[in-house]
Amino acid sequence: MAERSFAREVVKLRAAEGEIFRGEGILAITKALLQSGVSYVGGYQGAPISHLMDVLNDARDILDELGVHFEANGSEATAAAMLSASVNYPLRGAVTWKSTVGTNVASDALSNLASSGVVGGAMVIVGEDYGEGSSIMQERTYAFAMKAQMWLLDPRPNLPSIVDMVEKGFALSEASNTPIFYMMRIRGCHVTGEFAARDNVPPAFNSRHPVTPHREPEKIILPPHVYQQERDKIAERLPAAIRFISEQGLNEQFPGRYASLGIIVLGGCYNTVIRALQRQGLADVFGNTDVPLYVLNVAYPLVPDEVVDFCADKEQVLVLEEGQPEYVEQALNTVLRRAGVTTRLFGKDIMPMAGEYSGQIMLEGITRFLGSATSVDVPLRLSQAAVEALRSPLSDEDTALLMQEVPPRPSGLCTGCPERPLFSAIKQVQRELGPFHISSDIGCHSFATLAPFNLGNTIMGYGLSLASSSGIRHSLPHKSISIMGDGGFWHNGLTSGVTSAVFNGHDGILIIVDNGYSAATGGQDIPSLVEPSQVIASTIDSSSPSRTHYQSIQDACRGAGVKWIRTVSTYSVDLVKEVLSQALLSRQPGLKVIVAEGECMLNRQRRIKPLLQQSISAGKRTVRARFVVDEDTCTGDHACIRISGCPSLTIRDNPDPLRKDPISHVDNSCVGCGVCGSNAHAAILCPSFARVDLIHNPTRIDRALARIRQGVIGWLQSRAQRREEARAL
Ligand code: SF4
Ligand code: SF4
Repeated sequence: MAERSFAREVVKLRAAEGEIFRGEGILAITKALLQSGVSYVGGYQGAPISHLMDVLNDARDILDELGVHFEANGSEATAAAMLSASVNYPLRGAVTWKSTVGTNVASDALSNLASSGVVGGAMVIVGEDYGEGSSIMQERTYAFAMKAQMWLLDPRPNLPSIVDMVEKGFALSEASNTPIFYMMRIRGCHVTGEFAARDNVPPAFNSRHPVTPHREPEKIILPPHVYQQERDKIAERLPAAIRFISEQGLNEQFPGRYASLGIIVLGGCYNTVIRALQRQGLADVFGNTDVPLYVLNVAYPLVPDEVVDFCADKEQVLVLEEGQPEYVEQALNTVLRRAGVTTRLFGKDIMPMAGEYSGQIMLEGITRFLGSATSVDVPLRLSQAAVEALRSPLSDEDTALLMQEVPPRPSGLCTGCPERPLFSAIKQVQRELGPFHISSDIGCHSFATLAPFNLGNTIMGYGLSLASSSGIRHSLPHKSISIMGDGGFWHNGLTSGVTSAVFNGHDGILIIVDNGYSAATGGQDIPSLVEPSQVIASTIDSSSPSRTHYQSIQDACRGAGVKWIRTVSTYSVDLVKEVLSQALLSRQPGLKVIVAEGECMLNRQRRIKPLLQQSISAGKRTVRARFVVDEDTCTGDHACIRISGCPSLTIRDNPDPLRKDPISHVDNSCVGCGVCGSNAHAAILCPSFARVDLIHNPTRIDRALARIRQGVIGWLQSRAQRREEARAL
C-alpha cells in the first residue's frame, strides 16, 4: 500500500538510450539512479519524497532484473547506515528521506560515514521540507552539510538538470571520496518535463557479482584515524570536490546585457528568479536573461575562483538564499573579501531573513535590487510600488469580511478516521477527571493538538512522545499520558521510549495508535502491517479488535518488559474510556500500554472501494452503511460536531420555521464509520443519529421488507397527521 501507485509509470524506467522520458521529477530521479549503475537503494518515507519510496517500491521488478538491492528502511538512521557499503567497496548507493527531521535522526551514521569517506558514490536524496506547505520546523540541511563536510547539490528544477546532477553527483562523490546530499525541494519533486534517456546500467557488484571482502583500518572512526580523516576532509577531499565541480561545470553562469549587475541563486530557486525577471521584462520563458546569473547547483562547497570570476567586474550582486541564517551570503562575502574584490553584495539586507522565497517575495526583492543600481538604469515593467501592490489582491476590508464568513480550517483527521473516536474518548475522560498534560508525537494523531480536540502539549519528534514525558511525569497531578503512532513506535518509540521507560520504572501511560500503516506519509507498510487477507476480513466493528500482525506491537512491548498491556478498538468509545480510566487509576506500578486499533480509513477506502464497485457491477447484493441526523429531533446545539470534528458532519438550515438554529447534517462524504453515533451515545448527547443501510442490488426479500416498512411508516405518518388535524379543529 502506498500514497500513490506508480505501477503504470514505472515501465518508463526501462527507457533505453535516446528515448524521450516524460514524467515527474521524482520518477526522473529513479531513472537517473538506474542510469548511474546504482547497486543499492533504501530510505524512509516522508514528505516531500514519500513518492520516491513509492516509485522504488513499485519498480521492484526492474530493480531485481538489474540486480539493484532495495530496502524500505526502519528509520533514516537505518538508511544512512546502509551507505557504509560504499566505504570499502566501489558500490554506488542512494538513500532518501525527509529533511531536516530525517537528517537529524540519521546524523550519527552520517557523521561517521563522512569521516570515514567513501570509495563508491554515496548519495542521500533529501526532501527539503522548507517553506509554505511544509509540515515541520523550519530548518535547512545546509548546516549539516557544512558541519559534517558533505557536499550539497541543489539542482535547477527541470528534468535534464535533475537527472544530470544525479549522475554527476555520484562522480563527484567518488572523485572526492565524500558522501553527497542531493536536495529535492518541495517545488522540485513534482515538476514535470522530459529528457533524453540513457540505458540503465547494472551495478558492477551485486549478489551475482559479489565483492571481495577486505578491510581498511584507517577508515574506522576511532583515534588515531579520526584525526587523519579530519585532515583528509580539508586537505584532500574538499580541494578534489572543488576541482571536480569547476572542471565538470556543475554550477552554471548565464550572461546578460547588464554586465555590471549579477544575481547568485541556489539552483532550487532558479525557476522563481527567472519568472520574476520575466515579469519585469528582463527574461524569457527559455531562460534568456538580461541580468547575469550564477546558479549554484552545488550549494556547498562554493568554488572560490568561480565566485570571484563572476563578481569581480560587477558593481553589485544579489544573493538569493532561501531560509535562515545566511550561510551562503556569509561564505560569499568571505571569498570576495579575501580575494580583495569590492563588489557590493546584497542579500538578507533587502530580502527576508526567514521564510520561503515565493514568487511575490522574489519579485519584490529583485525589483528592489535592480532599482538600487547606480551604474546602469534598468527599465522595469513594474515599479516597486506596483510590485508591492500585488501582495494581496484583497483590501484589508475584504479580508476582514472574508474572515467573518469563512471559518479558519485547521488541519484535521480524515472523514471516518479511526483516531477521531479515540480522541473523543480521551476528551470525555478528561472532562470527568480534570485537564491532562499529554506528550504528543508525529503522525496523523498530531492533528489532535488542534481544534476541536485540543489535546496535546508538546511534540518532540517521531516516536519520542513517551521519552518526552520522562521529565514531566513526576510533576503531574495524574499519570503521564503519551500518544504515539504505530509508525513512530517502530521508528524510535520501542527503543527510545518503551525500553527506556521500563528500565527507569516509568509509571505513565502510552497510547499506541495502531492504524496499520504509515498513514501520515501516504500509507506505506510498517512492521506491524496487517496481513493482506486479514485486512480484507477486518471490520471497523468493535467486536474483533485484535488482528494478526507480522511483528506484533503487543509482543514487542511484552518483550521489552511491559506487564500492563490492553488492546482496544478505537471505535469502541465506551471501552476506550473505561480502559484509559483503569490505566489512570491503576495502582499497579510500571508502564501501561494501550494499543488502540482501527484501520486507517483513507487506506481502507482505497482498499475496499474497488471491491465494492466490483461487487455492485457483478450484480451482487452489497450493503453500505451511512449515518443521518434526524432533523426533527436535532436541537441544533452542535455538540456532536464539537466532540467529533468529522468533516462529514456539517450544518444546514432548520426545516422547522419555528426554530432558527441550523441543525446538524451528515453530508455525502460519510463513510459510515458510526463514530458520531457512538460519541453521541457515549457522551449521552442526543438520540438524533441513525444508521441507514444503502442496499445495492437488493434481493426480493429486501424489496418486500422495504415495502412493508414504507407501508408501516406511511400508516403512522397519516395517523399522526389525522390527530394533528383533529386537534386543530
Ligand atoms: S490518513 Fe488515515 S489515520 Fe491519517 S487522518 Fe486519514 S484516516 Fe486517519
Ligand atoms: S458515520 Fe459520522 S463520524 Fe463516521 S464518517 Fe459518517 S458522519 Fe463522520
